[in-house]
Amino acid sequence: MDFSDTVEEAAFRQIARQWIGEQAPAYLYDGLAMSGFGGTKTGELDPLAEAKKWQKKKAAAGWACIQWPVEFGGQGATPMQSVIWNQEEGVYGKLTGTFIIGQGMCAPTMMAYADDEQKKRYLPKLASGEEVWCQLFSEPGSGSDLAGLRTRAEKEGDDWIINGQKIWTSGAHYSDYGILITRTDPDVAKHRGLTMFFLDMKSPGVDIKPIKQANGESGFNEVYFDHVRIPDAQRLGDVGGGWQVSLTTLMNERLAIGGSIATGFPEIKTLVDNLELPSGKAIDDPAVRARLADWYAKSAGLKNTAARAMTALSKGEIPGPENSIGKLVAGGMMQDIAKFALDLQGLGGAIVDPALARDSARLQAMVMRSPAVRIEGGTDQILRNIIAERVLGLPEELRADKGIAFNKIPTGQ
Ligand SMILES: Cc1cc2nc3c(=O)[nH]c(=O)nc-3n(C[C@H](O)[C@H](O)[C@H](O)COP(=O)(O)OP(=O)(O)OC[C@H]3O[C@@H](n4cnc5c(N)ncnc54)[C@H](O)[C@@H]3O)c2cc1C
Repeated sequence: MDFSDTVEEAAFRQIARQWIGEQAPAYLYDGLAMSGFGGTKTGELDPLAEAKKWQKKKAAAGWACIQWPVEFGGQGATPMQSVIWNQEEGVYGKLTGTFIIGQGMCAPTMMAYADDEQKKRYLPKLASGEEVWCQLFSEPGSGSDLAGLRTRAEKEGDDWIINGQKIWTSGAHYSDYGILITRTDPDVAKHRGLTMFFLDMKSPGVDIKPIKQANGESGFNEVYFDHVRIPDAQRLGDVGGGWQVSLTTLMNERLAIGGSIATGFPEIKTLVDNLELPSGKAIDDPAVRARLADWYAKSAGLKNTAARAMTALSKGEIPGPENSIGKLVAGGMMQDIAKFALDLQGLGGAIVDPALARDSARLQAMVMRSPAVRIEGGTDQILRNIIAERVLGLPEELRADKGIAFNKIPTGQ
């Protein structure tokens, strides 16, 4: 495979590089270089405000969501140009993690199912970061089994009344809008009674409670709905067609997460290049080198798998279930690397204060963050099921509730 730029790609890269060099917030470079595992280091400055500032600047110059159509705030760029942009944006891209759910998952769903007026109203502000969106799917009893969700939507005149609870909603506490999947018909099989909406997160009756995580951050939330009113005009897709709509979101979720997934390899390489062990430099230790070689081989495999997905995209093909492989491999690898990195540092590995710990405690942050990678956007086990059934063609998992009306499924109560 030849990964070098074509003449056009090299010209595009040069323009992007020059603009980023002149416009990016260089005062954030050092902090961002050490960020990425559950927190964006912007010193005394508010990470959300800095993210919005950078995104707004990009949007004003036509560099926000460049692969989107021009009328929605993009520049109709090719998938390859989008990859090149991301490579050139480098550490500054870490600022825009705040927008991944909105731009990578909600926006494609809006593009496919919202009406023309709504697309014109919402998509440009989503691209420019002026409005942030979240994804209200998981519930306490339905994460992997998303179609088992219980949040109800009942029709009242031209509106729908929502009651129920979502959980693990990333960014709900700073989001302006969200896409919400609900149950509208409990009398049919679970996948057939669902309906999707989008809503204003400031609607009366929406109560957002941040969840405190082990790393001290509160990235996600519980979200309660108490008689929340949503106009029927904000329904996405048919009544009862919510599952189909959610597949658009979830397929893009795997792409958005899988396409940009960190592995921890560059971070462990920097550590072992510089760490002195009692026996000498860590990089010279045969046991360290053996682990490193193994992780390097995996990283190279991931890079080539991502390149294959990009080639498929550039030929107009839709990303398929094989895309699940990236997150499955990278999540486990990152967790292994993080644990190994802490062990190598001995007692120093227990220090979590970025001002005192080696490499601003980013490997410690990786230990805290990596288990989440193996859960969000589909757990390891669910990804293995997808690969087994839909890539390898193995027999389907037994699904005892298949075809049974939702309200007839035994719940143990
Ligand atoms: C950092 C983070 C951010 C998130 N952000 C969002 C968000 O913004 N919006 C949102 O809606 N959700 C979000 N989630 C929720 C996420 O989608 C769910 O946590 C995930 O789908 C798993 O669901 P669950 O937690 O209910 O676990 P469960 O589904 O209850 O799974 C528990 C265990 O059982 C295993 N298991 C379940 N079913 C099977 C099966 N059929 N075969 C084999 N094993 C199985 C799982 O693999 C897991 O190990 C986020 C999660 C994390 C960690």
